[in-house]
Amino acid sequence: MAKIFKATHVGKVRQNNEDSLIVIEPETFVVADGMGGASAGEVASQMLVEVVKNFLSETPAPWDENILAKAIHLANEKILNLARQNEEYNGMGTTATILSLDGTQAYFAHVGDSRLYLLRNKVLKQMTEDHSYVETLVRRGELTEEEARIHPMKNVLIQAVGVIPEIFVDMSNFTTAKGDLFLLCTDGLTNMVDDATIAEILQTASEPADALIEAALQAGGKDNVTVIVAGVD
Ligand code: CA
Repeated sequence: MAKIFKATHVGKVRQNNEDSLIVIEPETFVVADGMGGASAGEVASQMLVEVVKNFLSETPAPWDENILAKAIHLANEKILNLARQNEEYNGMGTTATILSLDGTQAYFAHVGDSRLYLLRNKVLKQMTEDHSYVETLVRRGELTEEEARIHPMKNVLIQAVGVIPEIFVDMSNFTTAKGDLFLLCTDGLTNMVDDATIAEILQTASEPADALIEAALQAGGKDNVTVIVAGVD
């Protein structure tokens, strides 16, 4: 069984925590970062984790990347329907990053700018691509990663779950290795703490989730911050 650490924090600036997370047995992890006025962001991210949990509970494991993507598509439909029925929820949406482990296989599906990282042999690798405007500029060579991290438009997403009917879910799988450590997190961590510091904390902290949140708060805690850390024995 994987060792699991998880934590979420409202941060130092925001009034509400619009992030949601869930750990689903067996060994499946979800983070979601909601957006939208009033409490709509919370509604969207909570709905995402609920829909994923319910869908997976009715689907025999292992949950490969296609099943995880199906869960995200279903959540997209349900959040969109709710938003259409309630004016206060208009325009709400959420990111979705899901990792499911089965034996030596890891499956993931993803929409938005929350992230999945893999720490293997002391090297931290981002497994997901941000669906953000600035990431598009980075890929075109118009911005460096460091410029993107502090760019005024860094919060602008090119897609999210629950906003429009058509979404493109990134999905993939890979083989795990003994000692692998996985991190799922919202941008409240990655906008505040750089990858080198994240890697350092993952390798040294006895309670890595709490330590990552603490690092984000110490760096300013401008956003809600959510992390799940899972280790393969
Ligand atoms: Ca956020």
